[in-house]
Amino acid sequence: MSHFSRPASKLTSFEILRQIGISVLAICIAVVARKYPLAQLEGRIVWVTFYPAVMMSAVLGGWIAGTLTTAGSCFIAVLCWSLFVTTPFIHGSADWLGLWAFVFNCALMIGTAQLMHRERAKAWIAKEQAEAANRTKSQFLANMSHEIRTPMNAILGFSQLLQRMSDLPDSAKSKLGIIQKNGEHLLGIVDEVLEMSRIESGKLESHESVVDLHGLLQDLDIMFQAGCKEKGLAFRLDIEDTVPRYIEIDLGKLRQLLMNLLSNAVKYTEKGSIEIKATCSLSGSLSIRVQDTGIGISILEQASLFQPFQRTQKGQQTAGGTGLGLAISRSFANVIGGRIHLESAQGKGSRFTLELRPKLAHSAAIANTRPVGTMRVDASVENRRILVVEDIELNRQLMSEILQPLGFEVRIAENGKIALEALESQPPPAVILMDFFMPEMGGMEATKRIREKYSPQEIAIIGVSASAFHEERNRFMESGLNAFLAKPFLEKDLVDLLAIFVKMVETEPTSEAIPPTLDRASDSWKSAFRSAVEQGNISHLKALAVQAGEFDQKLSNWILEQC
Ligand code: ADP
Repeated sequence: MSHFSRPASKLTSFEILRQIGISVLAICIAVVARKYPLAQLEGRIVWVTFYPAVMMSAVLGGWIAGTLTTAGSCFIAVLCWSLFVTTPFIHGSADWLGLWAFVFNCALMIGTAQLMHRERAKAWIAKEQAEAANRTKSQFLANMSHEIRTPMNAILGFSQLLQRMSDLPDSAKSKLGIIQKNGEHLLGIVDEVLEMSRIESGKLESHESVVDLHGLLQDLDIMFQAGCKEKGLAFRLDIEDTVPRYIEIDLGKLRQLLMNLLSNAVKYTEKGSIEIKATCSLSGSLSIRVQDTGIGISILEQASLFQPFQRTQKGQQTAGGTGLGLAISRSFANVIGGRIHLESAQGKGSRFTLELRPKLAHSAAIANTRPVGTMRVDASVENRRILVVEDIELNRQLMSEILQPLGFEVRIAENGKIALEALESQPPPAVILMDFFMPEMGGMEATKRIREKYSPQEIAIIGVSASAFHEERNRFMESGLNAFLAKPFLEKDLVDLLAIFVKMVETEPTSEAIPPTLDRASDSWKSAFRSAVEQGNISHLKALAVQAGEFDQKLSNWILEQC
């Protein structure tokens, strides 16, 4: 913060030199710009010609530049007059008055310009301080959410394991269910606060890819059918024939936005139905409408509903919430080039409509959206070892689940130090997937140490981190990474990255893309899945996907794809 402590009025020598320079330049321009030689000017008109120079130098430079230009103008006027004109420059009280009026007017101009400079400097300092405070807040929130999320994952994971133990009395199971539900709720809040802090610090960017819009809506249909059934609500999905199948859009943001609108619809509707309808006009404008028959929103409250932390009175009485979901959704809609509008009547239901004008995907890009799971390491590849350096057990498990079916030999290290030891004692892997935050030795330090021995051509290191900050990612990249992958990532993104470093080949998809069902899942798993979907809690969905692998691998893969 040291650069804030310098008061705006204290001038550095550079600033003084700059002002002198501006002043000299202003006088030169004023003199050169004269159309007539001084001698032809009538008496005091000479002052008038110097006003623009004084004004310019005071506004561009400051009080030193303005004062110097005033003094320089007086000097030049008097000097040139005595050189070219025989009569004295000042030979009466009117001439003195002319001189003092010039000096007085210049002083006024310089004072006004200086005030302007001072206010501008103050505003700049205030802006810098506010931005620094905002950065600190965002960093704090990001760190806190990371710190909270890590133990929460363990709490949730173990409470689920305990619930599945058959010898536990029902009363204990129901208490564990309460721990589970509240834990998931807390995770949802942490994620929302983190997302909001990202939005406020202006770090929201759109990452477009080819998206199967019909597939996305059908996936949401499967996810929300379950929650609606439990509440006795009808759920309908309607996609008009005119709606394009493949569009180029930020999938994560579109999905999160629709999930927010749908989970609100379920949350604030006690009876009736929920409908999601996609239409496309002749002009290419796409509308996705989420309509419910719930408690509705009064006209007065609609105006402020998209501001952070705003909740309606009825909404507060009906269910818990943070009031962040709609603010996040609106920011996401803006980032993807759309807008959300709301029509609602209290007691009758609400209709949220997302309107956008999506880019249609090119056929070459569509061909690229091959189903995940159709890539495998080529048979000719000798070194198919991959080292996963990750401190969180669930994430390690998840990585193994993704990588083993692709034909990789997966090795695990719990932190950077163990990874270095593994490199000493085992043959080097082709690729290392390196987490950023880890106890004992983090990813950056470990990457630097590995690079002392192995070049990027010998071992490819892919940094994997949930860090929300570009500066952190850049520093991580500079420590010697070949590539960076942001968490949470799509399985397809990981496979695409790996294919750059290890030769992979495409295999035929093994099964038809039939949507999975939840039939083989237990009631407790279904209820955990429903609340994770309703809260849009991606990390918990991934954990549930790993569990689903125990009873339905297809369902597990499908959930991982959705994440
Ligand atoms: P949260 O639901 O966590 O409170 P949101 O930002 O998603 O936060 O929603 C803000 C408020 O808008 C809610 O508290 C609720 O009062 C109102 N609201 C949102 N969606 C609906 C809906 N479908 N029906 C009725 N009220 C809604």
